[in-house]
Amino acid sequence: MERRKFLKKSSIGTAGVFSTSLISSCQEKTKDTSALIDEAKIIKPIVVCTWNFHNATSKAWKVLNSGGNALDAIEQGVMVEEADENNQTVGVGGRPDRDGNVTLDACIMDKESNCGAVLCMQNIAHPISVARKVMEDTPHVMLAGKGAEQFAYEKGFKKANLLTEKSRQEWLEWKKTSKYETIINIENHDTIGMLAIDKNGDIAGGCTTSGMGYKYAGRVGDSPIIGAGLFVDNEIGGATATGVGEEVVRTVGSFLIVELMRQGKSPQEACEEGVKRIMAKNEGRKDFQIGFLAINKKGETGGYCVHPGFTYSQYTDEGQINHPTESFIKA
Ligand code: ASP
Repeated sequence: MERRKFLKKSSIGTAGVFSTSLISSCQEKTKDTSALIDEAKIIKPIVVCTWNFHNATSKAWKVLNSGGNALDAIEQGVMVEEADENNQTVGVGGRPDRDGNVTLDACIMDKESNCGAVLCMQNIAHPISVARKVMEDTPHVMLAGKGAEQFAYEKGFKKANLLTEKSRQEWLEWKKTSKYETIINIENHDTIGMLAIDKNGDIAGGCTTSGMGYKYAGRVGDSPIIGAGLFVDNEIGGATATGVGEEVVRTVGSFLIVELMRQGKSPQEACEEGVKRIMAKNEGRKDFQIGFLAINKKGETGGYCVHPGFTYSQYTDEGQINHPTESFIKA
C-alpha cells in the first residue's frame, strides 16, 4: 500500500508519520490501527536553519504546518532572507565581489535526491527559486554565471539590482586597502542553509548566499555545491554549512555529515566529527569560522562550529527555539 493511502486509512490524520518498519508492519495488519498508533513513532514537522533567521523559519513553518511539503517550505523560507536587504550575505543587499558585482550561489535538494543549483549568478533576487527550476525543468544540476541568469529570464524572473547603497559604500571603503580577509562571524556570517521535515516525514534542504565578501570575480564556495554546502538523503537526514566555503569543500562537509549519521552518529556527533576533520587538515589555524547544522530522520538536530558564535534556529509545533552551539576552539 502506498504510504499516503495508508496514512489516510489509518486515520492518523496529519499529525505525523510512521517509520518505514512500522509501515510494513501495518501493511500486514491494517485493521488493528489502534495498536499501531501506540507503537507508532510520530515524526513532527520541523525546520532548522543556520543563524538566527526567525523570520525565515517562521515562514517555512507556516508552509509545513498547513500541510505543505518540505521543498516548498525550504524555498519560501530562505526567500525571506534573500529578499532582506539588511542581510549582507544573501540575495539582495549581499556584499559584492572585489569588482563591485553581487554574485549569488544557491542549491536545493529534495526527498528523491533531485537537486539543482545556480552559481555566480547576477541580477536575480531569488537564486533558490532559479535553482529549483534548474532541478525541475532541466536535465542538469548546475547552471553558472550568464547561463544561469539567462535561464532565469527565460523562466520569467525579473532583473533586479542586488547592490544596495550600504553594501556599495562598504565596498568603496574596502577598496582603499583591498585586503581580502575573512572576519570570523562577520564577513562569513549569515548564509542561510535550511533543512525541513514535512508531515509526510520527508526531508528537503536549501542553501543560499552571496558568498565571501570581496571575493575574486567568479569565486564559488561550498554553498551551491551539493555534498559540500548541502546534502539530503531522505532515508537518513540532511546537513548544511556556513562559513569559509573553501574549507567545507575540501572535506565535502555536508555529505560527510550525512554519511556519519548513516553510520549511526547523532546529528550532533556528526557535526562535531565534521568540524574535527576540517581542523585536522588545518592544524594551528584559527582564522576561519565554519558552522555545520544537521537533522536526522527522527527530527533530532545538532550543530557545531570552529569558533564560538554559530547558532541555529528551529521551529516545531513547540514554537521557535534558538540553539547556541559548542565550538572546537573555545572562547
Ligand atoms: N559558505 C559561504 C561561502 O563560502 C559563505 C558563508 O557561509 O557566509 O560562500
